[in-house]
Amino acid sequence: MSYDKCVRCGACVRICPLFTAREEEQFTPRAKTYLLQVMDLIEDDEEIQREFRRLLFQCTMCGRCEEVCSSDVDLLKIYHEQRAKALKSAPEEFEYLNALRKALANVKNIYGLDPEDRAVFWMDELIDDIPDIEDRVYEEGKTAEVMVFLGCLMSFRATQMDVVKSLFKSLERGGADYMVMGAQEFCCGHPLYLMGDDEGAEELRRHNKEVIEKAQAKTVITCCPGCLIQLKNYHNFEGVEVLHHTQYFDRILDEPPQLERDEEFAYHDPCELHRISNVKREPRSLMRKIGVKWREMELSCCGGGGLLRMTDPDLSDKIIEVRKQKEHMEGTTVLTCCPSCREQFMSAGIRTKDIVEMLDEAFEEQGRSTE
Ligand code: SF4
Ligand code: SF4
Repeated sequence: MSYDKCVRCGACVRICPLFTAREEEQFTPRAKTYLLQVMDLIEDDEEIQREFRRLLFQCTMCGRCEEVCSSDVDLLKIYHEQRAKALKSAPEEFEYLNALRKALANVKNIYGLDPEDRAVFWMDELIDDIPDIEDRVYEEGKTAEVMVFLGCLMSFRATQMDVVKSLFKSLERGGADYMVMGAQEFCCGHPLYLMGDDEGAEELRRHNKEVIEKAQAKTVITCCPGCLIQLKNYHNFEGVEVLHHTQYFDRILDEPPQLERDEEFAYHDPCELHRISNVKREPRSLMRKIGVKWREMELSCCGGGGLLRMTDPDLSDKIIEVRKQKEHMEGTTVLTCCPSCREQFMSAGIRTKDIVEMLDEAFEEQGRSTE
C-alpha cells in the first residue's frame, strides 16, 4: 500500500492549508497516513475509527501534499478510496450529505432545483446581447462543434451570472459554433466522486456523455475545474477534446483584444486546475495576451474544495481568512478561473473576477475604440 511508503518526514505538514489554518497535527497528511499504517492495531477502537473517518472529510483535496511528498505516497488516491470506504461502512455519520445525494439522484443538480431551470436563470440576462441565445440550447437533433458544459454553480448561482454572460459573449465574438447543454445537462458527478460515491457519479456521467456524443461535438468547454476533471478523465470520450475555457480562448484568439488598464490584479490558481489537471500556462498566456497585469499568489488552496464547505464550513472559512490576511488581499481584485474559488473569495469579502470577464471587458473596450 502506498501509505506504507510514508517516512513521516513532515514535508506535507506546513503546506497543508488545514494545518496553516489550525496548526493541529491531526489534520495533516502525515497524521492520516500514520493512522493507516497502524490500522491493524486500532481497528477495534470505535472512537478512533470515527475520528479517522471525520478527518478524512476534513481535507480540501487540493493535492499539495502529494506534490511535495518525496516518498511518492498517492495521497489523493488514498483519500478517495478511504472516503468511499467510510461512506459505505458508516453511512449514519454522513447523513449531512444525504440532501445533496438525494438532489443529485432526483433532479441531477446540487441545488435540488427543477432541471428545466438550467437554461433559464441566465437566459433572460443574455437576450439583449445575444438575441438568438435560445437557439444555442441543446435539443435532440441539434449539432454543434463546441458544447458548453456550464456545471451546477454556473447554471444556477446568481453570483456567477457575470461570468456566464462574459463566456457567451466571448464565444460569440470568437465566432464559435457552440451550443449549451441546458436542461439536458446533469451534474458532472464531481461532488459524488469527492465523497467516494463512484457508482452515483458514473450514472450522471453516462447521461452527459450520451448527450455530447449525440450533439456530435468535437470540443467540450467548461469554466469549472471540477467539471473539467470529470469530463476529461472519467467520461472516456473518443474524438472529443475537453478544455477549460482559458485553454479554449488562449488557443482560438489570433488577434486578442487589448485592455488599457494600469490596475494590478492578483492571480489565484485553482488547485483542481493547476495541480490536478496541470493547466498552468494557458490562464497566464490568455491574461498576458489581453494585457492584464497581475502579481502571483501563493500556490495554496482557497479552502473551498473537497466538499469542505459542507463537511466543515468553519475550517473552510478559517483557511480563506488566514490567506486573506497573509497575502494582503484586502483592496485587491483576485482573478481566478473557477466558480467554486470565486464563491469562496466572495464569502470572505474579497473582490474577485474570472479571467473571461477580463476578456469580455477587453472586447468591450475594443468595440468602443473602433466605434
Ligand atoms: S511528505 Fe509524504 S513521506 Fe513525508 S510525511 Fe508527508 S506523506 Fe509522509
Ligand atoms: S489534499 Fe490539501 S488539504 Fe488535503 S491533506 Fe493534502 S494538502 Fe492538506
